[in-house]
This record gives sequence, structure tokens and C-alpha cells, in this order.
Amino acid sequence: MSVSFEDIQKYELYLNYLEKKLGAFFQEQSPYIFCKEGCSYCCEKGEYPFTEIEFAYLILGTRELNKETFEEVEKNMLQIKKEKSEYKGEKAFMYKCPFLINKRCCLYKYRGIICRTHGLAFFSKDNKLLVPACVDKGLNYSNVYDYENDTISDEKYHQLGIKQEPLAHNVGMHFMTNNDFINSIGLKFGEIKPMIDWFNDL
Ligand code: SF4
Repeated sequence: MSVSFEDIQKYELYLNYLEKKLGAFFQEQSPYIFCKEGCSYCCEKGEYPFTEIEFAYLILGTRELNKETFEEVEKNMLQIKKEKSEYKGEKAFMYKCPFLINKRCCLYKYRGIICRTHGLAFFSKDNKLLVPACVDKGLNYSNVYDYENDTISDEKYHQLGIKQEPLAHNVGMHFMTNNDFINSIGLKFGEIKPMIDWFNDL
């Protein structure tokens, strides 16, 4: 699939829809979410799966970067590619996002879908409720987390006296790239792969 101007327009329509949907999830889960300005934990280590259209949109955003930032991203990207080519581990290669500059996303407006869900509890492929890794830093969901049993504690939730339960939503890439709205506008996402692998195609 090569991404056309029309595809980008459809994707931007979808992003508007997604922002409202995710905004409602974040609002609903706000008693358990402690994301704050300057925290970049979610962008420090990951695979960052991106579909073709998401990556094309991200690259579109690089036109707005100043020369210095652009060069820094380029340097980060080359370093990560090198580390990946030398990586011999069995687990997926994880890295700090090349767009994270001074602990901030330099392409925030153009960030991917996975980036927009950072911070929310989610379901694993086998339907287990998982909380973001920053729970270990005393951040998201830490006020209701049972660290011994690695799960959300009903007891802690009830002790807090909060009406809204801690919940996971279907924010995995499979759900975020397949729904009625997407079908209604005829949006196609294309192939999906870790962000760093898309750089090989540039
Ligand atoms: S694109 Fe931005 S929000 Fe997404 S992982 Fe990279 S730095 Fe974080």
C-alpha cells in the first residue's frame, strides 16, 4: 500500500474520532491515572508497533521539526538501528523512541495510535487485565494495585471509596485498527511493524 493524500485525510478523520473515544476512557479512569508533564516512561522502552499509515503520518510531521531536532532524531534512529542489528536476545528488541527529545515527544500531534493509549489499563491477547508498567514507579493504577499478586486489588479499590471502577479497555492495536467507524470511512492501515523497522524502508 502506498499512502495517498486521501488516505491521510481519512486517517485524520479517524484521529478526531479516536481522541474523543480515548479522552472519554482517560476521563473515566482519571482516579487511577497519574500521567504528568515531563514523564516519558511509556516512550523510554518499547517496540512501538506502527501501521503504514501511522508511520507515513509521523514522517509527515517531521517537516515541522527544526534542523537541530531533526538531526537529533536521525542520530537516535541510526543508533537504534545499529543496536537492533547487533541484538541477539530472544525477546523482542526494545528501545527508546527516537522521537523522544529531552523527555518530550517532538511529534506529539503526529504520534501513533499506541502512543495515544499510553497510560491506560488494557487487555492482553489472552484477555488478562494489564496495567501500564509505570505502576512499578508508583504511578498509574498504583493506588489500587496488589503488587504481591500482580493484579488490581478489589479491597484497595473499595477502601478508596471511588465510584468508578478501575477498568481496562480494548485499546490493543487489533481493536484500534478494526471497528465500524474505520469501515464506514474506508480507512486502510496497511502493514504493521515496529516503528524502527519502518526506517529501513525510507
Ligand atoms: S512517537 Fe512520541 S508519544 Fe510515541 S513513543 Fe515516540 S516519543 Fe512517545
